[in-house]
Amino acid sequence: MWIKSLTITTIIAAALFLGLACTSGEKTGFRILTAGIRHESNTFIPYLTTASEFTVLRGSVATQERAWAKFLKEEGMEVIPTLHAIGGASGVVSKETYEAFREEILEALRAAGSVDGIFLDMHGALHVESYPDAQVDFIQQIRKIVGEDVVIAASFDLHGNISQEFIAGLNIASAYRTAPHVDGEETRTRTVRLMVEALQNDLLPQIAYIRLPILIPGEKGITSVEPLKSLYARLPEISRLAGLMDASIFVGMPWTDVNRAGMSVLVVAKDHQHLFDAQVQAEALANAIWEQRAGLKFDVPTASIDDAIKTALEAQYTTVFITDSGDNVTAGAAGDGTLVLERLLTYKVTDAVLAGIVDPEAVEQCVAAGVGAMVDLSVGGKIDNVFSKPLAVSGTVQSLTKEQPDSKQMDAVLQVDGVTLVLLSRHRAFTDPAHFRAVEIDPLAHKIVVVKEGYLFQALRDIAPHAIMALTPGFANQLVENIEYKYVRRPIFPLNPDMTWSASKFMRN
Ligand SMILES: [Zn+2]
Repeated sequence: MWIKSLTITTIIAAALFLGLACTSGEKTGFRILTAGIRHESNTFIPYLTTASEFTVLRGSVATQERAWAKFLKEEGMEVIPTLHAIGGASGVVSKETYEAFREEILEALRAAGSVDGIFLDMHGALHVESYPDAQVDFIQQIRKIVGEDVVIAASFDLHGNISQEFIAGLNIASAYRTAPHVDGEETRTRTVRLMVEALQNDLLPQIAYIRLPILIPGEKGITSVEPLKSLYARLPEISRLAGLMDASIFVGMPWTDVNRAGMSVLVVAKDHQHLFDAQVQAEALANAIWEQRAGLKFDVPTASIDDAIKTALEAQYTTVFITDSGDNVTAGAAGDGTLVLERLLTYKVTDAVLAGIVDPEAVEQCVAAGVGAMVDLSVGGKIDNVFSKPLAVSGTVQSLTKEQPDSKQMDAVLQVDGVTLVLLSRHRAFTDPAHFRAVEIDPLAHKIVVVKEGYLFQALRDIAPHAIMALTPGFANQLVENIEYKYVRRPIFPLNPDMTWSASKFMRN
């Protein structure tokens, strides 16, 4: 449909008639409501995620110092921020939590009256208890209130698992183009820029969507290495084609056991007339990805934890980073697995850092004992009691630091034989040299540094002389071929390695 809400059309017509449009010729003053529920849900974790695990921003706080909000204001838009719930990766979101967020957003939308556009800040891998696809529910509930003529634009992490039904409710969707991610704010700003472009030109964009039968961990979907490097390089080129606005490749999230898990591509057309052009581009992109699926590989050496430790000790590099990929906190795993610690101690490694193990009780015991005290602790294995178990250690409390200068959460550093062990009071990952500085550790002064990630985040890649990904067990098992999925659609590559597929055939069917 072509016509925006009657109110807005009337206002614009009146403004043009009276010569009140701004001198540049661009229409301003559109009312944009903003909201978001960002979460990467790992269905293998046996715990639900509740509201306390989200950073919830409301009203003007949600737009403070945000580049995308600044852009909207500079364009003369009236921004109506509502609830933005920002979570990381953890277990499935509880029904109660999701519904509370949703109802608050819908209530604000009803109270806002007529709006011209809606910007949704999403991750794309949200999964909620009792909902087959909560993101579909979310967009359908919004559409029930605003109808089909309001421009809805959403930004995503490229690890989102996106379904056709969800996309059908959106006019514009755009995903990060980098993994490890360095373009979050850039993507959100691009998304709102496209929304403004649509509003100013009275366009109602539509999205061509193709889901690919490919399920890979993000560690095989690094955008700076081939084949994805060249494939992602095509996205800006496609976006510039006549009648098109944007293009995205979703790598997907393989630790969400749902039918929609896996890769997909999107191309946004300016309007319905150009949807066929968008479909042609989406099809070509999907076919190109499919043809190169065998090239989607890990970009760093991988090994069992025993081999990773042996290789690191023998390596010429001053420091080797080892990622405990099965317990990857950034993919929602527990972060309290003890396997790597146990192996480091068994091998009597003399100079390693392990950052860190989540164990609030152990941190409290260190705080009670004080710096310099010897403690006997049972660490880790309490959250992940499927792949891990608590480990008894004795060590000296090296330091106690506040997680943030103004927070009550403490971290403890314990020296256990040759291992400098960081104990964390909550679920988080060390992804940046600043995280090490905060606990008074210089990672490059040690031979082995273990972090609970899959791929090393960019800030650590920048400093790491060498990295090995240890293929450890856990809730983020990198070897998806070995995971017993219940709901992931079949056939899918590489679980069904010999399957055939073509986007063209898919579209004709
Ligand atoms: Zn991501």
